[in-house]
Amino acid sequence: SAHLLDIQHLKTHFATFEGVARAVDDVSFHLDRGEVLGVVGESGCGKSVTAQSIMRLIPEPPGKIVGGHIWFDGMDLTTLDPAAMRRIRGDRIAMIFQEPMTSLNPVYTIGDQIAEMFELHRGMKRREAWQQAVAMLEKVQIPAPHKRAGEYPHQLSGGMRQRAMIAMALACDPEILIADEPTTALDVTVQAQILDLMLQLKEDFQTAVMMITHDLGVIAEVAQRVVVMYAGKVVEQAPTLALFEDPKHPYTRGLLRSIPKLGERSRQGRRHLEEIPGMVPGLLELPPGCRFEPRCSHATAVCREREPELLDLGSNRLVRCHLYGS
Ligand code: SF4
Ligand code: MG
Repeated sequence: SAHLLDIQHLKTHFATFEGVARAVDDVSFHLDRGEVLGVVGESGCGKSVTAQSIMRLIPEPPGKIVGGHIWFDGMDLTTLDPAAMRRIRGDRIAMIFQEPMTSLNPVYTIGDQIAEMFELHRGMKRREAWQQAVAMLEKVQIPAPHKRAGEYPHQLSGGMRQRAMIAMALACDPEILIADEPTTALDVTVQAQILDLMLQLKEDFQTAVMMITHDLGVIAEVAQRVVVMYAGKVVEQAPTLALFEDPKHPYTRGLLRSIPKLGERSRQGRRHLEEIPGMVPGLLELPPGCRFEPRCSHATAVCREREPELLDLGSNRLVRCHLYGS
């Protein structure tokens, strides 16, 4: 594949007592070298499960990648053996989370944990690894990095912990950074600082970033291209500017209407997508036609009967909706 990462027809399902939940159901998109791709949707849309599939962190059972391919440097990550996958994870593809304590270990100092990355993946000796760890803390603009390196995660503020996690993720200079709601838990000012930092580091490290979020405001600030997911499917894909100027899918339009205006944003802080009436359908009781149909004000008979295909509109735009095409 010519793409850095190429996800083709990925299917990741979860077995439950009531049936099979198709959390990711035939999802395809790609990531190119050096770009920031936004993946947006409400919780339960499959964006995090897609990320966990790439990292092969799906708890199995009950989860399982049941179809498709994830191409990276000539390898299909869906079938790669666990030892080879361990070498890629953290080294060539790294991930950061909403909650830094997911990846930071509370019983080791920040410096120890970052140094371990250099020891593990770069074969460095302790002393050199520690120096590199301090240098990384400096790069993510943690003040007094020598002192901070000797501190435990709980001694840092939320924003500083997030920086430490980013330092750990970037320690091995990964080609891909997957960021799953990295700023959601932070207050608005710190959120802006972290996004700025990530953009700057992306330039310095030439890392491609997959930014997963429910917040189109974040996408607007960082991403060149956007994939919109709904109930396990990609429903729209577009360059960011085009998506904001002329959203095609009724769901995307709803998402855009739910973004607070400038100013409102700082007053209200984090926002959820409550403005779109209705709820994401349970993955066990998906409507037979378009999955958005129960919430869509444009729905017609065909929407209830037949699932729309992902249609290529040209200009790097894709949409899954019966309003388009013939
Ligand atoms: Fe709405 Fe029909 Fe388009 Fe689905 S296919 S988003 S129900 S108009
Ligand atoms: Mg999630």
